[in-house]
Amino acid sequence: MSSVIWYLYEFARKSWAEKFANAHTEHEILEKPERFRDFPTVHKEYCIGCGACTTACPAPGAIKLVRDTDTPEEEGLTYPVIVKGACIRCGFCAEVCPTDPKTIECGENHLIREEFTIVPSEKLYVIDDYLCIRCKKCLKACPVDAIVEEDGRVEIDQSRCIACGDCLEKCPVKGALKRIHVAYVEEQKMVINLAVNELEAAIEERSDDIKKLGAGEVYRMNQPLRPLLERALEVLPDEEITRDILEMITDRLKMRIITWSPEKCVQCRLCVDECPSGAITYSEDEGVVRDPEKCLRCSTCYQTCPFGVAGYYVARFLIDESNGEEVIRITIKPAALPVK
Ligand code: SF4
Ligand code: SF4
Repeated sequence: MSSVIWYLYEFARKSWAEKFANAHTEHEILEKPERFRDFPTVHKEYCIGCGACTTACPAPGAIKLVRDTDTPEEEGLTYPVIVKGACIRCGFCAEVCPTDPKTIECGENHLIREEFTIVPSEKLYVIDDYLCIRCKKCLKACPVDAIVEEDGRVEIDQSRCIACGDCLEKCPVKGALKRIHVAYVEEQKMVINLAVNELEAAIEERSDDIKKLGAGEVYRMNQPLRPLLERALEVLPDEEITRDILEMITDRLKMRIITWSPEKCVQCRLCVDECPSGAITYSEDEGVVRDPEKCLRCSTCYQTCPFGVAGYYVARFLIDESNGEEVIRITIKPAALPVK
């Protein structure tokens, strides 16, 4: 009964279990789960009435044994009847049926056929060939030999991957191995944008302090995670995915910060022509002005200005638990670029 493992794995998935539990109409129940077997068909003439099918069936009310009325000529047949509104198409009944030929048939178990390339998870693990250093630690960590090296590239065979994530834990290069949530892609993008915008705004508020940082000094600040998580959950109301996305992006995010000290400006206007996005402008009335909304953070102004008007810093982020409260730790350092 090898498919039992797969079935339990699939059944245990929170999203699927919720959908099943919340299905209201027979139509909805019949629709799910889409990758399972066909509904069982019954060849009642083979049934020996052992009841193994009813014992194996995990769905309440999906299968019952009936017995036809006896007639003077012959005894009524005993056989299973499938209630489609309750059957979840796991196929256990067919697997345990001991008759030969089988009384119950329900097609192949697609979940255990490799050629269907079915990902038994809503998470996908992929390797970014650009970042991968081919250390092959993931190959050794994978418990099901799903990672292979081909033509010098390390790749994950999605038909074998069981989405355990062991490879990700062993990979020493940030971003070389990625966990991707297959569902809610648009919402995930919105959550990422939300997080980046909020972190940027929080840093912007401390801009005056950051500008005072000397070379080699580090500025640290904490941002509580909960309010951001709450707002993200309004976009994508699945805490498991949302949390994971926030953790992954804060862990990998590296934000360039450009500060601007207009009091140091001598109106030489060198930066105005150099700025590739037109974020720095000059007018008789206002002099040299920088619009942070148009800024690409390329740092050209920082490298051009001889008077230190533009500052250039790099911020890193990490979710951490501090005094029982989850916070995003933000570390800001002056950029290591040489000032001309
Ligand atoms: S997620 Fe697990 S099974 Fe999939 S490739 Fe990584 S280690 Fe192997
Ligand atoms: S562990 Fe990471 S860096 Fe090493 S081979 Fe695997 S994906 Fe590449």
